[in-house]
Amino acid sequence: MSKPIPISDKFANKFEVLEGLGKGAFSIVKKCRGKQGEVTGKEFAVKIIKTKELTAKILAKLEKESRICKTLKHPNIVSLHYSYQEDNTFYMVLDLVTGGELFDDIVKREYYSESQASNCLRQVLQALQFCHERNIIHRDIKPENLLLTSKHQPSNIKLADFGLAVELEKSIDFAWYGFAGTPGYLSPEILQKVPYGRPVDLWACGVILYILLVGYPPFWHDDQQKLYASIRNGEYDFPSPDWDTVTDEAKTLVTRLLTRDPMKRLTAGESLKQSWIFTPELPSKFHR
Ligand code: ADP
Ligand code: MG
Repeated sequence: MSKPIPISDKFANKFEVLEGLGKGAFSIVKKCRGKQGEVTGKEFAVKIIKTKELTAKILAKLEKESRICKTLKHPNIVSLHYSYQEDNTFYMVLDLVTGGELFDDIVKREYYSESQASNCLRQVLQALQFCHERNIIHRDIKPENLLLTSKHQPSNIKLADFGLAVELEKSIDFAWYGFAGTPGYLSPEILQKVPYGRPVDLWACGVILYILLVGYPPFWHDDQQKLYASIRNGEYDFPSPDWDTVTDEAKTLVTRLLTRDPMKRLTAGESLKQSWIFTPELPSKFHR
């Protein structure tokens, strides 16, 4: 049995910690219920980050994540309600999302129908459009950070984990904010170590859309350097027979998101205008 995580007094005075919901690289997320004041009886998720020492640098990073997350109030974004810091532990009290990660849902279903994929990507794009309008890039768009509000389709999606998010400086659309992200979702411009911006999140949407449609990623290699080379060169294809039944509209959207030149890649707003995305009731040819 693993050692229980010590819950600090200040946080423990206000919330009762319940079952685990998920894990990240540096955090553990649990369900919790308010037991005092305005939160009494209300359920939330709490992201608990425990470090050996809550150094000024780590704290600054967590405060940045909290600050960004607190300002983003949107139906497709997990919002942060409270944060606490004490005894080398940082707590973020978030909206509770109970349907699990999109990642696990794809694994379970193998792949999505086009109408399910369209419904899913539309919500991710709406979340991103909202962030991008506020000069925030997420930098870690992937199915592990997209949470489902229900275990049944059609489910709503909420974007989580602003741990790598950065605020763009006003009127500077492209700059070097460091090498960050998850290997299979990294854009060519990050791998080329050139200034980047909002388009990195749209590249990751292209990777997600590809995965949703067939259940495997566009770029994959055991050797990370070879993986990076194939992303830099934009080397992916639509292998038969899996892609034979996918509509041209869906393939075109994948292609326009997985466009190497960030200036030519669709933005979130442009993607939302594509008929494959915005048509709420897709014609039957989109169902398979
Ligand atoms: P990290 O920054 O360590 O990756 P995340 O914020 O991604 O942490 O959270 C880790 C995991 O915890 C997520 O992938 C998800 O499974 C779960 N999780 C995170 N936030 C919530 C939430 N608000 N409601 C339910 N589960 C969550
Ligand atoms: Mg995460």
